[in-house]
Order: sequence, then C-alpha cells, then structure tokens
Amino acid sequence: MTDIIRLLPDAIANQIAAGEVVQRPASVVKELLENSVDAKSTSIQLIIREAGKSLVQVIDDGMGMSETDARMSFERHATSKIRTSDDLFSIRTLGFRGEALASIAAVAQVELRTRRSSDELGSLIRVEASQIKVQEATASLPGTNLSVKNLFFNVPARRNFLRSNAVEMRHVLDEFQRVALANPEISFALYHNDAEVYNLPAGKLSHRIVSIFGKNYREQLAPCQEETPFVKVTGYIGKPEFARKTRGEQFFFVNNRYVRHNYLHHAVMSAFEGLLPDDSYPFYVLFIEIDPVHIDINVHPTKTEIKFDDERSVYAIVLASVRKALGSHNIAPSLDFG
Ligand code: ADP
Ligand code: MG
Repeated sequence: MTDIIRLLPDAIANQIAAGEVVQRPASVVKELLENSVDAKSTSIQLIIREAGKSLVQVIDDGMGMSETDARMSFERHATSKIRTSDDLFSIRTLGFRGEALASIAAVAQVELRTRRSSDELGSLIRVEASQIKVQEATASLPGTNLSVKNLFFNVPARRNFLRSNAVEMRHVLDEFQRVALANPEISFALYHNDAEVYNLPAGKLSHRIVSIFGKNYREQLAPCQEETPFVKVTGYIGKPEFARKTRGEQFFFVNNRYVRHNYLHHAVMSAFEGLLPDDSYPFYVLFIEIDPVHIDINVHPTKTEIKFDDERSVYAIVLASVRKALGSHNIAPSLDFG
C-alpha cells in the first residue's frame, strides 16, 4: 500500500483559512482598516459598492510597502508585526497573524497599489484566487490602496450565503464605526455606491462619538476615568435617561482593539443597576489599557475575544469607573467641546 497523506497546495490551504477569517464583506473591511491603522495612517478612506459584495477598497496614507513586501504580504503567515513567540505576549498592533491578505486574496480579485514615501516608484500587484496575475512598478501616491473585488467569486456556496445588501451594509457600518471610534486621531471617510456616508475629521473622542452617532449624543455623555498601576479605563458612558431598548451601542476597546466581553458588560450593567428602565442598555465607549502580558487575544482568528489573566480586577475597575462617572455627571454634566 502506498502512503496517502499530501500537503495541500497553498491556494487550497489559503481558501480553507479564509473560511475562518473572511465571512462576509464586513470581515474584509475590518482587516483592511486594521492594516491601515497599523501602518500609522493619518487619513483612511473606505469605498464600498453593493454593500462590499462587488468592491471593498481602502486607501490610506500610511507607511506603504517595498516591492518585495508587497508580494510577501499575500503569503500566509507572513507579517511584519511579530517575529518571535515572545512577541505574542507584547502585541501592540491590531494584526499579527499574517493571514488576512492571503485569505482575502484566496477568495476574491485583489489589486494592491502601494508606495513608501522614500521610494520613487510604487508597486502594483493583482492577485486572483491566490494566483499573482500582475506585478509591476507603477507611479502611485505614498501609502496603500487596496481593492477587493467580487468577494467569493470562486466560492459560490459562500457567495450565495451572503445576505441582502441592507444586512451586509449594516455589518460593514458596524466594523467601520468600531475602527473609527477606536482611532479618533485618524480622519476617516466612507463612500457607498459613490455617496458619502461618513466624513469624520481627526479630533477628540467626544467629537468622534457625536459625528458618528449624532448631535443629540452631545449632552448625553459622561466621561469615565479610572487608573490603577495594572489597568487604565477611559471613555464615555451615556446617561441613564439615554439608555435604549436595543443593544449595539456598547463598545469595549482593549489596547485599542474592539472586543466583545460579556463579563465586563456585566460590570457596566451593575454600575447602572437601579438607574435604568427595564430591558434597556446604556450607551458606552470604554477604553481599557493594560500591559499586553496580561491578555491573550489569540483566542479566535477574528480577535474579538480576549482573555485577561486577572479578569476580576478589570471587572472591579470598570465597575468603579462607571459608578464614579454616574455619581458625578449630575454635578459636572457638560463636556469640554472646545
Ligand atoms: P497582519 O496584519 O496580521 O500582519 P495581513 O495579512 O493583514 O497580516 O498583512 C500582511 C502584512 O502586509 C502586514 O504585516 C504589513 O506588513 C503589510 N500590510 C498590509 N496592509 C498594509 C497597509 N495598508 N500598509 C502598509 N503595510 C501593509
Ligand atoms: Mg492584518
């Protein structure tokens, strides 16, 4: 009998990995926006067509890539963000798995234009279903311009599984809002089918909240601030009267990464106990800063889950910060919108 186990070709391995990382157009939006943030951009534009089904394009003014790096960026497990296993315990960037571009390029038609400001010429690369179709030098602006066309064009089962444009666009907006909230010092714009949806100037967090959610939030926010040697909490909560029946405007960012965390959500809810109408949820945007040795974000490929080594302490500090904000908002309600 002959041996029967074979190593899969890269294109198939990438397509399998894509199953976890790329579920829908919004997953592409998240990965590309995070790459632009990691590249130290000051201005990021997101251009969407058909809720991202036919086009997700991100243009940034970040550090760009060399010719070789541009090609390497589509290899699986290829990253500039970590080098050793020790680095896994000190992650400051949003990415580190080196999987996103390889996965996206396995299930779409991708065009990358990129240039470092120190290089005279930039690079253009077209990849389709993991096959490099074009690679050439080209004139381009400093930064990176990456288009993802016809997501799942080669995976009909996935393409058919996509929901209506309205539903997919809701997911795109969620991802966009999370990244825009986490990075108020970066300007963001979003265009859908040529119409401007958001144009967010760089500024303070309070301004970013108001420009995303609306002017009526201005009077409703109370600042949060609490610090111990172990963890720092900052951000804003909505006043209890402002609570809504629907969930969705609750945001935790741990070291600038959006995460879902039921246990910490519970901490906020406990602080609000007795102040909210039944079945309603307060608005909050809370940033938790903690030494990365105390967290593990390598729980799931999408990295929206996180483990703290001392969850209870973080819970206590979040609870205390929200209590304090609630206690003082009547006395000092207004924000500095200067
Ligand atoms: P990861 O972000 O986990 O490193 P990705 O597949 O998302 O993996 O990206 C691979 C690499 O390509 C990154 O490590 C980075 O060096 C480079 N890269 C991707 N997007 C950009 C960008 N917008 N600007 C500059 N470099 C980028
Ligand atoms: Mg990435």
